[in-house]
Amino acid sequence: SYGEDAGGEDDLVVRPPVVTVMGHVDHGKTRLLDTIRKANVMGGEAGGITQHIGAYQVMSELEGYERPITFIDTPGHEAFTAMRARGAKSTDIAVIVVAADDGVMPQTVEAINHAQAADVPVVVAVNKIDKEGANPDKIRQQLTEYNLVAEEYGGDTMFVDISAKQGTNIDALLEAILLTADAALDLRANPNMEAQGVAIEAHLDRGRGPVATVLVQRGTLRVGDSIVAGDASGRVRRMFDEHGEDIVEAYPSRPVAVVGFTSVPGAGDTFLVVDEDRVARQIADRRRARERNAELASRRKRVSLEDLDAALKETNQLNLIIKGDNSGTVEALEDALMKIEVGDDVELRVIHRGVGGITEGDVNLAIADNVIVLGFNVRAEGKATELANREGVEIRYYSVIYQAIDEIEQALKGLLKPEYEEAVLGHAEVRQVFRSSRFGSIAGCLVMDGIIRRNAKARLLRDSVVVAENLTVNSLRRVKDDVVEVREGFECGLTLGSFNDVKDGDMIETYELREKPRA
Ligand code: GDP
Repeated sequence: SYGEDAGGEDDLVVRPPVVTVMGHVDHGKTRLLDTIRKANVMGGEAGGITQHIGAYQVMSELEGYERPITFIDTPGHEAFTAMRARGAKSTDIAVIVVAADDGVMPQTVEAINHAQAADVPVVVAVNKIDKEGANPDKIRQQLTEYNLVAEEYGGDTMFVDISAKQGTNIDALLEAILLTADAALDLRANPNMEAQGVAIEAHLDRGRGPVATVLVQRGTLRVGDSIVAGDASGRVRRMFDEHGEDIVEAYPSRPVAVVGFTSVPGAGDTFLVVDEDRVARQIADRRRARERNAELASRRKRVSLEDLDAALKETNQLNLIIKGDNSGTVEALEDALMKIEVGDDVELRVIHRGVGGITEGDVNLAIADNVIVLGFNVRAEGKATELANREGVEIRYYSVIYQAIDEIEQALKGLLKPEYEEAVLGHAEVRQVFRSSRFGSIAGCLVMDGIIRRNAKARLLRDSVVVAENLTVNSLRRVKDDVVEVREGFECGLTLGSFNDVKDGDMIETYELREKPRA
């Protein structure tokens, strides 16, 4: 199975923290990742030229010990949420970068929400302190509103004032990451098992074929291992690190670029090592088939309010993301929602709010946490709708606040059950009944109007009186073939499950339940 360390306590060994850098655009995430990467190369590694493989490890000193830290080398929270959406928890600590001359901005808040929703501790890097107008204290004050209270104010979040440009206080930031890891997390993994982890990025290299950077989360990955990531499989032919150096063994929290996949895995796919190439291939094939089926199914699937109801029953928690056309309405909506009287056993949480259209990031967050996205006077942007449909995320649009309140209130009371209406599909007259020891009564019919569909609901009429309700057309054949539908004017043979009391001259009415459109 994926996601667990084999063995017991004794098998677990301390592993480095894995860090993602998030924050508002232009606040210096990319610069910070560059500075950390370069400082480390200068600091000792022989290779010199670093390669962008999507993640890297640096050494940091804490209390006299050199300890590694792994950085995901993709700034921003897209990678973070995309991986979470696929069920891979790839980050232990989030560094939230805030420019001291600018302050807390919408994407800062979004990043904080993502980290908090994932239960990932935060270290705040107050950046650009070299700039005129930098006000690191203001940042500390602003962030208390988001439950990030600096240690110097009695909280438990570490804030470090840095300049990514001048390389100021980078050591202190690395130290803060290690201190936070030690205080808040128990980072251990079993290195003595077949490796498992997550693919961080992957591409097709002209010379080398598919190259995937994977983060080993447990076990040890070795050259020669049979590996499967998502629906890609292969054998590890070569591994290299961020310095381009070949490595033969990768321990927990180590990122490595892997050569040897026969196709390109997806970013965020989990990977595992198996006994043989053949097994890896089989798993990949099966996953590909399952994905195809899921895709077909989701085209048919409409996220129903039943799902919502079920989720609520299971967790007693309704999570919401609110997006709106301006901050005033978003606030007003959130305030009003928070005033809804809910029972003691039910919790309503707004895990993210923001101004603007519904983004892929919002949808990814929703997938991970089973949330409903409310759009107030805004719509989903670009591929967000597609992603939501594919993943079964419910997006509800409103333009009147009380209507939103009303529906959420109903959902919380468990009253928001879909209403169904019946749509008659067609009628078939029974012409002859065959008794089969295997199938029971098979009704030979002529379709009088509409269609008869396999798996449709049915009722039996005898002289216009309903004699049996709530039946299902279990099997449907034309001549000798199983078919899905038979149209008016054609003959067919059908069974109604275990219901056998069918007679010549009976009429079978088939129908479907359709969700009633809401006013
Ligand atoms: P990102 O969008 O968060 O990745 O931001 P970048 O790393 O691209 O930085 C945006 C701009 O701010 C660039 O022009 C950087 O050179 C600049 N910048 C980043 N960090 C600092 C800093 O510590 N001090 C100053 N003065 N400029 C910085």
